[in-house]
Amino acid sequence: MAKLKKLDTEIAKLIELETDRQKNSLQMIPSENHCSPAVREALGSILTDKYAEGYPGKRYYGGNQIIDMVENLCIERAKKAFGVPFVNVQPYSGSPANFAVYLATCEPGDTIMGHNLPDGGHISHGWKVNITSKIYKSIPYHVKKDGYLDMDEIRKLALEHKPKLMWCGATAYVREFPFEEFAKIADEVGAYFVADIAHISGLVIAGAHKSPVPYAHIVTTTTHKTLRGPRGGMVMVTEKGLKKDPELGEKINKAIFPGGVQGGPHEHQISAIAVALGEALKPDFKKYGKQIVKNAKVLGQELVKNKVKIVSGGTDNHMLLIDLTDISAGRGVFLSDALDIAGITVNKNMIPQDPSSPFYPSGVRLGTPAITTRGMKEKEMKIIATWIAKTVEEIKKYQLPTEKEERIIYLRNFRKEIKVNKELKKISQEVLKFCKKFPLPK
Ligand SMILES: *Cc1c(COP(=O)(O)O)cnc(C)c1O
Repeated sequence: MAKLKKLDTEIAKLIELETDRQKNSLQMIPSENHCSPAVREALGSILTDKYAEGYPGKRYYGGNQIIDMVENLCIERAKKAFGVPFVNVQPYSGSPANFAVYLATCEPGDTIMGHNLPDGGHISHGWKVNITSKIYKSIPYHVKKDGYLDMDEIRKLALEHKPKLMWCGATAYVREFPFEEFAKIADEVGAYFVADIAHISGLVIAGAHKSPVPYAHIVTTTTHKTLRGPRGGMVMVTEKGLKKDPELGEKINKAIFPGGVQGGPHEHQISAIAVALGEALKPDFKKYGKQIVKNAKVLGQELVKNKVKIVSGGTDNHMLLIDLTDISAGRGVFLSDALDIAGITVNKNMIPQDPSSPFYPSGVRLGTPAITTRGMKEKEMKIIATWIAKTVEEIKKYQLPTEKEERIIYLRNFRKEIKVNKELKKISQEVLKFCKKFPLPK
């Protein structure tokens, strides 16, 4: 930062402030993590200056001899980490990776099936405001009241609608994905089966979640969640996928470029993904992935002990969903704002069969990837659970008004009050002290 501090004090200052924020509070948004300084060095490298449209050995620009080696190394590491024969490492993020899958496998108007967004699904799996639901006929499936996927409904819908493509993957789902059962249904109707492991790819590499690779045709992921790399995405084709269509890898490549998903690849980002994959291939990463899950399980148990209700009663992965409906609906925003004041960053989220709306959901989503990176273990989870439980108590007296106009005024007052809430302030001081013992990765 030496140059930046001298030449652009405004941005340098903001980066410092954000560094302090991350350092001095607990980052518990389950899609976030702290990548290593080595990853950030590659991301901030001179590779950002190079244009490399095309693929290794087949570029539209000169001077790509070294860039080709960077991208090939990244591909090789990804193949090894996941045990797949084909990988495209160019997607700028998870959503473009998913869009490439549609372009490679479907024609406009084809039917696709995905996990319904209010049930925890991702917007790119055919949710109604997303472009994918306009280009394709989207049939959403759901989870049951207990939080588990409704496999009977999924099979029924698949037989009825005969989708060309079926997604399995979510952004708010706390149980292990039943990839094998999904594959049986997809095979029965002749659909492409795509596992989107954006959230859990680090757990899959660590052996802390079952791998979809034996069952899916295609696997997509982000690189910045449990995988702990820079922001980015990947599309992988499995042996099973190549058996269904030997051209599938080529089709994915063409969809990403020149098919329309993107232009020139971000090779600085690809080099940083390679660094993260290198880290993920080391034995320590297995311990890390397993610790993420252990921590989430303990956190869940302790929340329940402290009378905080969680969806499905526990977790199989890195994530928990707090269900606040036992007091009244639409209270996720109260808890997420109050936790923010307490120094714990989470996000408001819908819970299965949420009686409220996406803007005022009834739950909060939180997870352990980033705090596990900082070295926290079971003992620390117990402390964090008591802070969360105390914060839940502090917001119990607030009720979301039913009138839309009233809500804005009510929330404004609520935010004023929690800013000076003594209990929350006390927690935030404890969190600050606690954070000093667990520095960000050096
Ligand atoms: C995070 C996520 C993505 C992609 O997210 P980007 O923000 O585009 O990187 C895709 N699918 C799922 C299930 C996700 O959780």
